[in-house]
Amino acid sequence: MKDRIAHIETKVQEAALRAGRNPEEIRLVAVSKTKPVEMVAEAFEAGQRIFGENYIQEAVEKIQRLEEKDIQWHFIGHLQSKKSKYAAGNFELIHSVDSLKLATELNKQAAKKGVLQNILIQVNTSGEESKSGTTEAEVVQMIREIAELKHVAIKGLMTMPAFFDDPEGARPFFKQLRQIKERIETLAIPNVEMKELSMGMTGDFEVAIEEGATLVRVGTAIFGPRNYNK
Ligand SMILES: *Cc1c(COP(=O)(O)O)cnc(C)c1O
Repeated sequence: MKDRIAHIETKVQEAALRAGRNPEEIRLVAVSKTKPVEMVAEAFEAGQRIFGENYIQEAVEKIQRLEEKDIQWHFIGHLQSKKSKYAAGNFELIHSVDSLKLATELNKQAAKKGVLQNILIQVNTSGEESKSGTTEAEVVQMIREIAELKHVAIKGLMTMPAFFDDPEGARPFFKQLRQIKERIETLAIPNVEMKELSMGMTGDFEVAIEEGATLVRVGTAIFGPRNYNK
């Protein structure tokens, strides 16, 4: 485990340097969905601090069981509005906010708990019906509306393009997300930060870093293949 994480960190640094970036701008999110808490604990012992989960019930269970550890939990999976009460306040960052409805519900739950919930807006760059995320056409308006909510704070954007055998296939979508981020930055919307770009997984995180990723979400390369298709 330690070796695998170190290997990925090296790849992250190399990709950053290739792109003329400071490697410290990039954080590795270890995606532990479907994996037992023992493996999360093992990765923690190996020095990993940020973990990403996809399923709210599984995530909350792990958070409770590993409560004593100084883990930064991120939520990266599709979130239904009605599950917002389990999500708000439990995660340092929710990567997958894709509607005003969800943001409004998270805002309400965060207000109840007296917390400020950090979020990213998920954009469906590759335009596939099956993928979550708002469209490029709608993202600016959605961000303007979410920016009015006092208990959620937009920190950047996330995307998850279609799967490509060749990581180069994902590059145009990573590039597109960066361009959307840059465009939104020029709008200087109050209450909106565009610091984070969450993009890149096991198969393509190096390409994502070359295109500006600040958070890469890596599961398989750390924890091995998942047993079922989740
Ligand atoms: C599962 C998942 C990942 C990690 O995928 P790997 O290919 O195992 O690295 C990253 N992001 C999201 C949103 C995921 O659901």
